[in-house]
Amino acid sequence: MSSQLARRVVSKRQFSTSRVVSHQERTILQKLFKIPLDAGAIGAVLATTWLGGQIFTEASPKKQKPQTALTTAGATKKDLVILGSGWGSASMLKSLDTSLYNVTVVSPRNYFLFTPLLPSAPTGTIEPKSIVEPIRAIAKRTPGEVTFMEADATDIDVTKSTVTVKQASTEISGVSKQDSGSSLTTDSFTKDLKYDYLVVGVGAQPTTFGIPGVAEHACFLKELPDSYQVKRKMLDCIEKAALYPKGSEERKRLLSFVVVGGGPTGVEFAGELQDYIDEDLHRWMPEIAEDVQVTLVEALPNVLNAFSKKLWSYAHQVFEETNIHLALSTAVKNVTPTTVFAQSKLADGTTKDLEIPYGMLVWATGNAPRDFTKLMFKKIAEQNTARRGLLVDENLKVNGTENVFAIGDCAFTGHPPTGQVAHQEGDYVSEYLKQKAALDDLNHELSKASNSDESSKVQTRIDSLKSQIKPFNYAHMGALSYVGAEKAVADLVWGKFSSTSTGGTFTYLIWRASYIAMCISARQKALVAFDWLKITIFGRDTSKE
Ligand SMILES: Cc1cc2nc3c(=O)[nH]c(=O)nc-3n(C[C@H](O)[C@H](O)[C@H](O)COP(=O)(O)OP(=O)(O)OC[C@H]3O[C@@H](n4cnc5c(N)ncnc54)[C@H](O)[C@@H]3O)c2cc1C
Repeated sequence: MSSQLARRVVSKRQFSTSRVVSHQERTILQKLFKIPLDAGAIGAVLATTWLGGQIFTEASPKKQKPQTALTTAGATKKDLVILGSGWGSASMLKSLDTSLYNVTVVSPRNYFLFTPLLPSAPTGTIEPKSIVEPIRAIAKRTPGEVTFMEADATDIDVTKSTVTVKQASTEISGVSKQDSGSSLTTDSFTKDLKYDYLVVGVGAQPTTFGIPGVAEHACFLKELPDSYQVKRKMLDCIEKAALYPKGSEERKRLLSFVVVGGGPTGVEFAGELQDYIDEDLHRWMPEIAEDVQVTLVEALPNVLNAFSKKLWSYAHQVFEETNIHLALSTAVKNVTPTTVFAQSKLADGTTKDLEIPYGMLVWATGNAPRDFTKLMFKKIAEQNTARRGLLVDENLKVNGTENVFAIGDCAFTGHPPTGQVAHQEGDYVSEYLKQKAALDDLNHELSKASNSDESSKVQTRIDSLKSQIKPFNYAHMGALSYVGAEKAVADLVWGKFSSTSTGGTFTYLIWRASYIAMCISARQKALVAFDWLKITIFGRDTSKE
């Protein structure tokens, strides 16, 4: 009896002890979970409030100052013409005090395109419209009124300071010139614009290196309409291949997707393509997904050559794991409507000819100057030797001119042709022209000075302001590239002398966070974040339209 009682007491004690422990554990666990949950909830509320505030501010811009003949100091207000609406020109416009000049922006594209996420558009990871921002919206948020003309700059007279513009609308990649995007190009509106300052930010076009068949048969990935073209081509190949029996040569060819160029654009697109095949196509058409082969062709022995060495092998490893075939040290020689003819350099120094049948070919090998840039090479004596971009001085002023600046991919500064460089150059010219406007006002004040004392005071201010004008100095912040399978590589720069090279899933989160931060508007940030959330829930959209 007593032993039974003792057992019951013990068991009750054990029970009550175990209840106390589990309660304590639960409390500790709850507390532990609560900290990140609370922090996450507070973070989400703060981020949403901040984003909401930004979107509201952007949607309701302040009243702008109208364009006028004179500045507030009474000097003649100068005409500033900006060519282009890309990274260089849009960044410049965004940071410019547009009330200091009568500003006109000329571009065949009435929007800014956030190119870093363009490789995500054809596969439906990102909606194409999420990565554009109307140039008029950017202009509307600046202090002074801006005129926008949807037109191409077609000619320039640097002695008369005029630029000829002709009505035009976005072209696909500038190589094929297939699609003007406008139904009204036949009446060809043309006008000569007079400028006091001209900023040339016309970018570059994809280069084909003159390889036969590339311009005719390849798709490019440079402009927004290119992404629609690539998507359509990819889905055409998939749907057509489904009509052929498994194992047929034609089905194999249609499902061979070849990407040429192992730089960030080619690598990111190949990674996105394989993600789409593995995560989406596999769900809907598994028998087709199994037969798709993505091949990345690169003339050098590695992909992502601008990144640090250890990231080359990491990218190769991810590609191997995800079944992307790498054709390295392989140069394309000729392209027909169905086959890429290439030559590979083997380790023993010999070469091997390759034939790669393809359904879709995407060409991402770098830049060549646009027609307008080449025209400037020809028309300005100091530019006659230029090949890759306009030659500029330390203030980004075009050699051989007094009042023309070049920014971004159309300028040759020794820096890589990236959005990061173009953005900093745009900001620099904006600041430079702000100082120039202040100098103009001071010179006007000097001309009105009534005595030598007043003159010397103004002259001192002029000299001081002139000494503040610094040459352009590029600050490299690092480089990022998505490699597929939710992995990215990054060369991150901390301060002047230290840097980190990293690759993996955490880097992928850094990649995403950086791209959100780099978006040009709060609206763009929100749309990109929604797109990523949307594909996590619903998957990518595989419909053609
Ligand atoms: C797919 C892709 C991904 C990229 N990813 C990155 C990245 O992750 N990070 C990075 O730093 N860089 C990236 N880049 C490079 C970056 O986009 C370019 O370096 C950058 O766009 C250059 O800016 P830009 O202003 O010189 O030219 P663009 O941005 O190309 O803009 C040129 C503008 O000029 C207009 N234009 C063309 N001809 C005329 C004319 N005759 N008259 C008037 N206007 C004209 C065009 O319509 C366009 O608006 C990427 C590029 C591509 C294609």
